[in-house]
Amino acid sequence: MQKNVAKIALIGNPNAGKSSVFNQLTGLQQKVGNFTGVTVDKKTGFSQLDKNTKASLIDLPGTYSLYPNSADEKIVLDILLDKNNKDFPELILYILDASQIERHCLLLTQLIDLKFKVVVAINMIDVAEKNHIKIDSKQFEKTFGVPAIPINARSGDNFDLLKKTLAEQLNTPADLKIFYPIENEILNEIRAVIPNEDTYRSWLIFQHSKQVHFISTEQRLDLNNLKTKHQFNSITEQFDEILDRYNAFTPDLPKIIQRQLNSSNTFTDKLDNILTHKFWGVLIFFALMLLVFQAMFNWSTIPMDFIDAQFTRMAGNIANNMPDNLLTRLLTEGIIPGIGGIVIFVPQIFLLFLIISILEEVGYMSRAVYLFDSLMQRFGLNGRSIVALISGGACAIPAIMSTRTISNPKERLITILITPFISCSARIPIYALLIAFVVPSTVVFGFLNLQALVFMGMYLLGVIAALGSAYILHKILKTTDTSFLSLDLPEYKIPYWKNVLMEVSNKVQAFVFGAGKVIIVISILLWFAASYGPNLANKKIQFAQEAAQMNLSEQESSEYIASKTLENSYVGIAGRVIEPIIKPIGFDWKIGIAIITSFAAREVFIGTMSTLYSIGEDAGESTIREKLGKQINPETKQRVFTVATSLSLLVFYAFALQCMSTMAVVYRETKTWKYPIYQFIGMGLFAYIASFIVYHLFK
Ligand code: GDP
Ligand code: MG
Repeated sequence: MQKNVAKIALIGNPNAGKSSVFNQLTGLQQKVGNFTGVTVDKKTGFSQLDKNTKASLIDLPGTYSLYPNSADEKIVLDILLDKNNKDFPELILYILDASQIERHCLLLTQLIDLKFKVVVAINMIDVAEKNHIKIDSKQFEKTFGVPAIPINARSGDNFDLLKKTLAEQLNTPADLKIFYPIENEILNEIRAVIPNEDTYRSWLIFQHSKQVHFISTEQRLDLNNLKTKHQFNSITEQFDEILDRYNAFTPDLPKIIQRQLNSSNTFTDKLDNILTHKFWGVLIFFALMLLVFQAMFNWSTIPMDFIDAQFTRMAGNIANNMPDNLLTRLLTEGIIPGIGGIVIFVPQIFLLFLIISILEEVGYMSRAVYLFDSLMQRFGLNGRSIVALISGGACAIPAIMSTRTISNPKERLITILITPFISCSARIPIYALLIAFVVPSTVVFGFLNLQALVFMGMYLLGVIAALGSAYILHKILKTTDTSFLSLDLPEYKIPYWKNVLMEVSNKVQAFVFGAGKVIIVISILLWFAASYGPNLANKKIQFAQEAAQMNLSEQESSEYIASKTLENSYVGIAGRVIEPIIKPIGFDWKIGIAIITSFAAREVFIGTMSTLYSIGEDAGESTIREKLGKQINPETKQRVFTVATSLSLLVFYAFALQCMSTMAVVYRETKTWKYPIYQFIGMGLFAYIASFIVYHLFK
């Protein structure tokens, strides 16, 4: 008979090996969800502990103590303090790193004081051995009063014993020590406000009264009043508590940990001297980032082109074999390209996270963060932001997803908001077309091509806009979170491939199923608006007749009909509606149409312009440029693409957030529409003003 499923939570400091233990225990029986209201992935899974006991496991974010610094840590606090939380565990599996026992035991004593049943897994026993550290687990059990099992989460050593112990402990009542007996006269008054809680739990609820969700408004008010009444100073209390806790167990540590000294200049130290070196370290970092860039920019084009071709072929097959009706068109022009537009990002996301998670697994990433943290902090960013900024040069979508590892919420938000300023690869075709229009291909300074120089200038403009707006946001945005860089430099390790692959597949899934929904809805709406319009069916017959009268070739007449259809569709109408707004920056309504359709993806701009000016899909870049160059505005009798207009467009596309996929990802990562909308408006205004200035300077 199978008993009820027991809830076990995995807790430990960051990098202690929780996810590895989790993967070992659950195997493939895991799923990734989300904690309500926040953007931290919630991994849950099942494990058969013995033949009668099945447990449901949850992999909680890494935490240093129950006084949280980051949003991730707050989740842990919320779950552990609220007995009615659906994730409240029956037992805690506490993972600690054998080489870092002293620091990792602080949180352990807090959990014990919360009266949880705890089983400790002393992980990375292999690394400790290599560094000549021996751990006496029996002594550990004596000091902390909980079972402790030495394990290796990478090889799976000793997991049978771990499972057996977990099953046993589930059926044994907890008999726990107290590490921090609170003697404070406020305690009785706190008890009066929140009865039915154990001592330490009520103490923590009191301290965190402003941020825990599960107490009532009156209780919160009462607790806050208590703080004022007693002039409660949370920081000094925390300080005392932490000191007391260390005092309670550090005297026993020499009995638990036996070090054979001689390892002062280890391999890690030698490597760190180079990798965190001000010159060599930075050089190596940029070489690695060049690899990231190369992978996302060049290598990913092969699978991307392949995916593109498959979806085009699929749509073509369906179009040829099904009756020409609304459903077929919805499928071939709306849904299939919509899904294609999601899947096309998979190679870039895959490659970026493959490289990043290998670097993370090896232990390199913490070094890179350390290297850039103080520089990035000046712009309100984080050492980890630099990865997002560099990847943003290929595509903002994986770049924004890579900000997950930034634990400070404000720094993460700023990074998300500014990354789309970096010129991504979708802007290249537009830059290429427009620069060729206005910049002569002359050689300056003897060897530099002027066009190439302007091209680089566009990239620089993006970097300046990104860092500048980061600085401004840093000054504007208020935060209640204090930022500590509690960063430890872990041992270098050979990557554990199972972890790498799980990380990569989680990221791909998060994008496809999280942001994908939004992308497909918007692309269907855009398709509909571009293909339908008031009375358009009748008008199309008329366009066909007009084309016949003009004696056009078959190719020309279908181009004529396509362009007239687009002009008379809802998008066409919208283009005319926004014309008064975009006229001051030099755009006419046809450019307005292209701006709207290119919201699907920036590169669509060129396709739309070709349709509107009946250039034909297969025309080469130089033909498009030539034909567009000849277009005359019927009202002003002037060329549509003057130098001023082209420069204005160039600047507009450099700065505006013209990308629905980016907005969908920002929504998925921040869990609210507020930020993508702010970002759209903010970047749009910025682009508008910049275009306005440029247009009037060159007019
Ligand atoms: P988390 O942050 O607590 O989830 O830690 P992870 O499970 O991601 O592990 C951090 C790193 O330590 C990864 O590179 C793991 O492969 C590695 N690791 C975890 N457990 C062990 C172990 O027992 N031995 C060794 N050598 N490495 C381990
Ligand atoms: Mg983890």
